[in-house]
Amino acid sequence: MDISVESVRGNLELARELMDRAIRSAGGENGTVRVMAVTKTHPAEVVGMAVKAGADMIGENRVSEGGRKVRALGRDLAEFHMIGPLHTGEVRQAVRDFHWIDSLDRVDIASEIARRTVEKGEEQPGLLLEVNTSGEDSKYGYPPDAAELEDVLGDIGGMGLRVSGLLTVGPLGASDREVRSAFALLRKLRDELAGRCGIPLEELSMGMSDDFQLAAAEGATTVRLGRFLFGPRRR
Ligand SMILES: *Cc1c(COP(=O)(O)O)cnc(C)c1O
Repeated sequence: MDISVESVRGNLELARELMDRAIRSAGGENGTVRVMAVTKTHPAEVVGMAVKAGADMIGENRVSEGGRKVRALGRDLAEFHMIGPLHTGEVRQAVRDFHWIDSLDRVDIASEIARRTVEKGEEQPGLLLEVNTSGEDSKYGYPPDAAELEDVLGDIGGMGLRVSGLLTVGPLGASDREVRSAFALLRKLRDELAGRCGIPLEELSMGMSDDFQLAAAEGATTVRLGRFLFGPRRR
């Protein structure tokens, strides 16, 4: 598939339509589910097309690859989100190039983020905690345990950082019922943690190309779409 501004715009519209339908048939209200365009493996040019097509959130899963594109295009072009695993040695570049880190799953990474931002009086990135709702070993994220996550949120808050919500990757190749229950679990964890910690945790980032309608029906505030918008990846 050739990627163009028109093709991406059409796919964005289709994604929104499908989500509205899924939310309505689940008995919910059509609200505002944001679409993050996940541009990993695609060149900076494709990021530019996505923005022209109306995407205002861009997701990348590698600091060096994503950072290169951000610097080529300018950081003000869109809201850039880091959605992949992060090493402590990459935090400096990540907070320089990305507005959000959505894949926080280690307290030592959080403390490095705090050291590089709040402790220097600089703006902190938006932060989401990643939760491994499916329990698959190959997945990143904290176990879906409210008590453990409450402690983590306490530790991170103590560093002066603010966490805005949770992210998960649904189980791959699972039935719709299993996928939905992973997303429902993330929503319930959010509700429970928000109550226990007194932090709103308004963001629920869940749903990718194969399962974003299910995620929308379960209350996602953001879905992360790569292949649905751009076709097969380049590597
Ligand atoms: C690649 C990726 C996506 C997008 O995946 P698609 O299946 O192409 O939509 C979403 N979230 C994360 C964390 C990813 O790594």
